[in-house]
Amino acid sequence: MEIAELAQDIRKPAEMDPKERCILCGSSLERILSGLTDTRFGTPGCHEIRRCRRCGLEQTWPVPSLADLKKLYEAQYNFGGETGTLYTRLREWFFASFLYRLWIRVDGDISFHLRSGSGRLIDIGCNEGRGLRIYARNGFQVEGLELNAAAAAVARRTGFAVHTCLLDDFLPTAAYDVAVLSNVLEHALNPRQMLSDVSRILARGGQVWISLPNSKSRLRRVFGRSWINWHVPFHISHFSAETLRRLLAEAGFLNAQTRQITPALWVTQSFIAWLFAREGRKNAQLRNPFLTLFLMVFAKLVLFPVLWFDNRSGRGDCLLVVARKA
Ligand SMILES: [Zn+2]
Repeated sequence: MEIAELAQDIRKPAEMDPKERCILCGSSLERILSGLTDTRFGTPGCHEIRRCRRCGLEQTWPVPSLADLKKLYEAQYNFGGETGTLYTRLREWFFASFLYRLWIRVDGDISFHLRSGSGRLIDIGCNEGRGLRIYARNGFQVEGLELNAAAAAVARRTGFAVHTCLLDDFLPTAAYDVAVLSNVLEHALNPRQMLSDVSRILARGGQVWISLPNSKSRLRRVFGRSWINWHVPFHISHFSAETLRRLLAEAGFLNAQTRQITPALWVTQSFIAWLFAREGRKNAQLRNPFLTLFLMVFAKLVLFPVLWFDNRSGRGDCLLVVARKA
């Protein structure tokens, strides 16, 4: 099926899921925002954000089917084909350099790349394995889980074990001490099931490290429909610290430690979406290295006091959570 046909499917909410229920607690939903379009890849189709009347979880509506999402990911996402461009070459050089470690110390570490330790770590949704190299360098015994076969193959070439099955079907030979969900849980069609599976593959006392966009972020209100982290139709759930903590507790995790950061890149991408996104068209400016760098420096230097304050008052753009399996 082609992308245009998939989008046709996504446009028909009634046919996707007639129940219209919260994916966490099954309660009824209320519409809080409509007219959202894909500001990154230009996937055709219009979405809404609906909030659960009971638990407060916000979710993208309609929810695409697993089969549709799989095709969309293969066509558009991450390792979906962009290699060797100026943007990707500069990006890879940057991530391998000492400048990256320096940068995340200043800007915030959305993927836990500064955490050292030991034991068995699995990076769930590891893409082409950039994080695997970093976690291994930080002392962990590292494996990955990645559904995109092309990305998983690249990660394996760097010497890591990368599993390609669904997390639901994953039966590791030994339990892990750490599971990383770096900007992954918000993509899950069933986040409760995902956390329950993470708990299943962790050793007792093992940790889950989660990062995802904060639905209470100030940037969401500033940029409205252009907020980069709506990311429809790929982001299914939009968590706050409260909804995430509740879900973690239900999945058997204790001591959820939450903090917030606002990466300059995320500010930049919301700016670029606001300036350049056109419905149905790929937003090429998101891959413009000069514009990106300029806006990141602007965000860091000029907006620094506001972002600092937001991070400490619950309105940062990225939630970071570390919790321990009971
Ligand atoms: Zn709910």
